[in-house]
Amino acid sequence: ILSLNALNKSWGATHVVRDLSLETREGEFIALLGPSGCGKSTTLRLIAGLEDPTGGQILLDGRDIATLPSAQRGISMVFQSYALFPHLTVGQNITFGLSVRGESKKAQAEKLARVAPQIGLEKLLDRRPSQLSGGQQQRVALGRALIAEAPICLLDEPLSNLDASLRAEMRSEIRSLQRRLGITMIFVTHDQTEAMSMADRVALLRDGRLEQFDTPEALYSRPASTFVAGFIGAPP
Ligand code: ATP
Ligand code: MG
Repeated sequence: ILSLNALNKSWGATHVVRDLSLETREGEFIALLGPSGCGKSTTLRLIAGLEDPTGGQILLDGRDIATLPSAQRGISMVFQSYALFPHLTVGQNITFGLSVRGESKKAQAEKLARVAPQIGLEKLLDRRPSQLSGGQQQRVALGRALIAEAPICLLDEPLSNLDASLRAEMRSEIRSLQRRLGITMIFVTHDQTEAMSMADRVALLRDGRLEQFDTPEALYSRPASTFVAGFIGAPP
C-alpha cells in the first residue's frame, strides 16, 4: 500500500505539488487526472524517486521510501515518450533493467519468456524499436516496467501517442493485465473519458492540489466542486 502524506514539491517560487495526501489500496487502478501543468508527471516522478520532494512523506507498506534510490523502491514506471534504446533489440530493451541489476542471462530469458506473450511481443523480440509501430513500441515500454515485477507500476500518459482505436484497445489490455497480475497501477492522463472508464478511483488534481479522490461514479454524481463537475462533464 502506497501512501502520500502532505507531499510537496517546489522549484524556487513555483509550487507544483501542494500538500498531496492519498493512499492506494492493494491491486487498485488509480487514474491521476488533471489539466496540463497541474503536476501529474511531477507527482509520478516523486513517487518513482526521480525527483526529491520539498516536503512530506512517501510510504510503501508503512516504510518511508523517500530517501531510497529509485531502483530500490519496488516501483516501476512507463514514460510517455517510451524512452526506448534505439540500438538495442526489443528483447534487450525489455530486460535492460534486469541486466543493470546483474541478473543472470538465464533469469532474464525466463522472465522475458513470461512477459513477452502478456504484451503480445513474442514474435518481435529481435527487432529494433525503429521497426515497430507506435502501439508495439508502447508495449515494449510496458514490458520493461512489468518485467521488474514491482507491486506498483506508474504510467505517465502511456497512450497519448496512439490513435483512437489503438488507445481503446490498449486501455482494456492494460486494465486486464493489471487485474491478472494483481498489481497497483497509477495511470496519469488528462483525458477524463480515459480516467473515468478505466479507474477504480480517480484522483483529480488542480494546480498541484487534490480536488477530489473517489470512484468515477462518486465524481460524477457528487462532484466536490464546480471545477470537478466541469472537468469531468458532470451536471453541476
Ligand atoms: P502535462 O499534462 O502537460 O504533462 P503535468 O500535469 O504532467 O502536465 P508537470 O509536468 O508535473 O505537469 O508540471 C507541473 C508544473 O511544474 C509545470 O508548470 C512545469 O512547468 C513545472 N515544472 C516541471 N518540471 C520542472 C522543473 N524541472 N523545473 C521547474 N519547473 C518544472
Ligand atoms: Mg505530464
